[in-house]
Amino acid sequence: MTENWAERAACKGLDPAIFYPLTDEEAGHAKAICAECPVKEPCLEHAIENREKNGVWGGETERERLRIVRRRRRLRQQQVTGIAS
Ligand code: SF4
Repeated sequence: MTENWAERAACKGLDPAIFYPLTDEEAGHAKAICAECPVKEPCLEHAIENREKNGVWGGETERERLRIVRRRRRLRQQQVTGIAS
């Protein structure tokens, strides 16, 4: 995390291992910290844009971020289809 928003991160100075749980079920501690974080949105967008493969970013696990990406892709396709028809 090298961008300005990272300076205000609630996870700054915490053990990074908290944010790299082995399973989604173990992500509760990280998610609780992210829920209170003032830079949750830019953190999530950073992870999506940079295709971060591991860890909890913006309160979302890798699997949850994949779902967000797929949902956005579907919405974009629907918008394109709606314009074309
Ligand atoms: S949303 Fe979570 S991972 Fe992202 S900066 Fe905040 S505390 Fe850290």
